[in-house]
Amino acid sequence: MIVIFENNAKQKDIQKVKNYLKQNNFRLNGSQGKDHFVLGIIGNVNKLNIDRLKEFDGVENAIRISESYKRCSRTFKPTDTIVKAGNIPIGGKDIVIIAGPCSVENEKMVHCIAKKVTKKGAKIIRGGAYKPRSSPYSFQGLGEEGLKYLKEAATKNNVPCVSELMSVDNLELFEKYIDIIQIGARNMQNFTLLKELSNTKKPIMLKRGISATVEEWLNSAEYIVSGGNPNVILCERGIRTFENSTRFTLDLSSVPVIKKLSHLPVIVDPSHAMGNRKLVLPMARAAIAVGADGIMVEVHNNPNEALSDGHQSLLPYQFEILMKNIKIISNAIGRKIYESD
Ligand code: PEP
Ligand code: MN
Repeated sequence: MIVIFENNAKQKDIQKVKNYLKQNNFRLNGSQGKDHFVLGIIGNVNKLNIDRLKEFDGVENAIRISESYKRCSRTFKPTDTIVKAGNIPIGGKDIVIIAGPCSVENEKMVHCIAKKVTKKGAKIIRGGAYKPRSSPYSFQGLGEEGLKYLKEAATKNNVPCVSELMSVDNLELFEKYIDIIQIGARNMQNFTLLKELSNTKKPIMLKRGISATVEEWLNSAEYIVSGGNPNVILCERGIRTFENSTRFTLDLSSVPVIKKLSHLPVIVDPSHAMGNRKLVLPMARAAIAVGADGIMVEVHNNPNEALSDGHQSLLPYQFEILMKNIKIISNAIGRKIYESD
């Protein structure tokens, strides 16, 4: 349920409503919208008398939230959520670029790629150490060793890092080494895993499931947020359709749709969607143009020899071109690429 206050409602009136709700053991989430202050109410709202709330001075309306993903909905919180990874804000005015190899293959390669992409403007580095491979015979990742190399490369370049967690059993390891925990497309509806993620303070990057609707995706985010971890970043990575000229169909329409339905930040991964490095640049440009808060791309110094996803990995010089292109698009839509320091 939310309480919407009148435009220019007095602070003392807002406080009276807050006190009333707190005395009744509800938790509150205040959000200053463009015109109205909105108070989100957390708890068993069924026992709340909505008419009583509407009688308070300064209250314009009180409504029950109809969306099943209540806490993630824009109704509950009209203002954009900014998730902080280290000191990097995701979901604000600026656009954040994440880049790195599909998998951490060895110490040297992750250091080499991290140095190159951060020099060209990537503010977060990526690299998988526990890989969700379609075939059990494919490279499965270096495990803890991979997380360690990724963290060292991130620290050396003074940026945070993101890596995919596949099992609850490894959560402690991720808390030790990783700044953003990625939940891959294949685990978007692993509800046991999602529930566990509400107990960590780390930001979660929740990728869209291969055949998930936007509503299912937001409901998965709700598992994490409602359990107590508000730091969720959504990542569109393409869905499976009848079209087979690309690896997946990059549903860029989900970005403005999510922006309307939810306050959570949304980034786009054109690498996994397209499956072909030649198609990554145009879709990265388009992602920025439709309002994504960032993009995540795979970069490899020797993609022909990559142990996973070499075909879609950009060469460092192509990443540099991508950065130049998206800078222009960002400026054109009144945003800019995030630059720290
Ligand atoms: C990845 O980002 O490494 C990955 C495997 O992506 P997805 O879950 O989107 O397939
Ligand atoms: Mn990959």
